[in-house]
Amino acid sequence: LESQVAGGLLGAAIAFILLQFYHTRSMEVELRRAVRRGTLRLVYQPIVDLKTGRIVAVEALLRWSRRGRDVSPEVFVALAERRRFIGALTRWVIRNVILELGTTIEERHIRVTVNIASEDLKDLGFPAFLTDCLQKARLTANLIGLELTERSAAEGTSAATAIGLLRSLGHSIYIDDFGTGYSSLSYLHRLAPDAIKIDRSFTQTIGTEAVTAPVVPLILEMASKLNMLVVVEGIESREQAVYFNAAVPNGSPIWGQGWLFGKPMPVSELRSLLARNSATQR
Ligand code: C2E
Ligand code: MG
Ligand code: MG
Ligand code: MG
Repeated sequence: LESQVAGGLLGAAIAFILLQFYHTRSMEVELRRAVRRGTLRLVYQPIVDLKTGRIVAVEALLRWSRRGRDVSPEVFVALAERRRFIGALTRWVIRNVILELGTTIEERHIRVTVNIASEDLKDLGFPAFLTDCLQKARLTANLIGLELTERSAAEGTSAATAIGLLRSLGHSIYIDDFGTGYSSLSYLHRLAPDAIKIDRSFTQTIGTEAVTAPVVPLILEMASKLNMLVVVEGIESREQAVYFNAAVPNGSPIWGQGWLFGKPMPVSELRSLLARNSATQR
């Protein structure tokens, strides 16, 4: 009897693994098809200068609706990274950001940032691809900032070389989700990124817990000393915006992004937000 039970359990385990495998595989097939057919969408989230309230940049975020339901980018981006076709997604994003928003950002003197993966840094054709897209649209490289996580930015000397090349072409480099991964001072010094984006897990300690994460002031101080711009992610309350504006060392720039200023939105909505934003600035 015992061996029968064991056999049953083993059968169930195998069925479960096969089902998981099938599920991931079919998701991969559908995602690859979506990239080919261009049935992905982009949304944009405003980034605001905390001192003036002006929208200074937007982040492009990818959306994929599968069988009528949005799949989290955390899930499908990770899948594309694992299965080594993230490069196709990144290129799709860059082409479409330029198509949808190129002239708007140029006219409004703002910048758009896109998220790139460590795979893109290994792709020797990537810098030329970017340059080519920009030239066709007659746009300059400073209009497109590149966001990289600490993990991919700190991935050895070849990543550092690739980042250096992208910077020399005129792209700003943003370290995304700063404070959650590697955070080694040697790589920060070596890469000299233009900006760090403080992860929202730090932001959310402000106003929600009795004690503010004690490292936040240290991060702000360090960024200021290293001449790096700080972008605060995940600002949901007025209190958080006020805190960061006051905590940044005098004279250093500080930008913020989060639901307080706007959720990620389709391009049409962004355009009217930008029009309203510049009208209130006059
Ligand atoms: P990320 O680059 O750190 O993007 C910020 C995420 O925080 C976005 O999630 C955004 O919707 C969310 N967020 C913004 N403000 C707030 C806030 O006030 N509160 C809260 N709770 N969340 C906020 P999203 O769009 O789900 O994207 C998740 C992650 O997926 C991104 O994190 C990025 O790592 C990845 N991702 C998204 N689009 C792309 C893409 O085109 N390429 C690559 N490689 N990765 C992407
Ligand atoms: Mg990002
Ligand atoms: Mg982030
Ligand atoms: Mg994130």
